[in-house]
Amino acid sequence: MSIINADLHCHSTVSDGTLAPEELAARAADNGVELWSLTDHDEIGGQHRAAAAARSHGIKYLTGTEISVTFADQTVHILGLGFDADSAQLRQGLSETRGGRRQRAMEMAEQLAAAGIPGTYAGALKYVGNPELISRTHFARFMVEAGVCRETSEVFRKYLTEGNPGYVPHRWASLKNAVRWITEAGGMAVIAHPARYPFTANEEFALFSEFKAHGGQGVEVVTGSHTPAEYLRYAGIAREFGLAASRGSDFHSPGESHTDLGQLPALPDTLTPVWDVLADRIL
Ligand code: AMP
Ligand code: MN
Ligand code: MN
Ligand code: MN
Repeated sequence: MSIINADLHCHSTVSDGTLAPEELAARAADNGVELWSLTDHDEIGGQHRAAAAARSHGIKYLTGTEISVTFADQTVHILGLGFDADSAQLRQGLSETRGGRRQRAMEMAEQLAAAGIPGTYAGALKYVGNPELISRTHFARFMVEAGVCRETSEVFRKYLTEGNPGYVPHRWASLKNAVRWITEAGGMAVIAHPARYPFTANEEFALFSEFKAHGGQGVEVVTGSHTPAEYLRYAGIAREFGLAASRGSDFHSPGESHTDLGQLPALPDTLTPVWDVLADRIL
């Protein structure tokens, strides 16, 4: 079971991806994915569709989500895998986490207008598939369409990020609550793409220590956001903290994502894959 093509991180139109859950399932199957999870940001509204589509393609499925968390004044993403998608507590927690997005988006648009880029709120909304989930990605897509930047990565370099126009700080869920919602719904909490956070060594140690103390059990080691050197670094941290390891592309869109579904190196074979721990949660 251990060496399989698992891809446990991607996004659909239910959050900030451009493909529907059914289209992602078909693409995953075409790319040879054997175990898949759809992990929309702060949202599990696509889970039943994704599981049904996976079944129709004969691929295995774990429920998934990616929860936005504020830790040490930074945004950290915590993946939930293998939970009960009908958990009322998880649904309520995610609903509260999504709650501030519209207000934040309006403030982002005001800042961008002041910087000479009008109409971004209405523009971003054209790309939104779920009215409760307007994200920076939707702004970035519109700003490419409007000719402000050539590609979305350039938008994030020049706008929408700390120190740049269109950045609105936001308080997301607490680490403790995110881990609790996932684990109490029967799932496993996994720190997503840890190399992406601008933490000092002490802050990173605190993140892993507190995550573990709250009941977190996994870390993403092989992801589209990591370099091969980072695979090794977080393999070491997984061993140090006794965490299972996950693998996921973080695929969002054929035009934007560098890493397609299922197209990643295998996990280092010295690690325990999350799918071994979650074997009885696989659909
Ligand atoms: P939000 O949850 O609205 O803050 O948006 C976060 C999303 O923006 C992430 O999940 C990514 O999809 C996207 N994003 C963040 N930083 C970058 C970046 N540097 N390049 C491309 N996309 C990014
Ligand atoms: Mn995203
Ligand atoms: Mn993320
Ligand atoms: Mn993601």
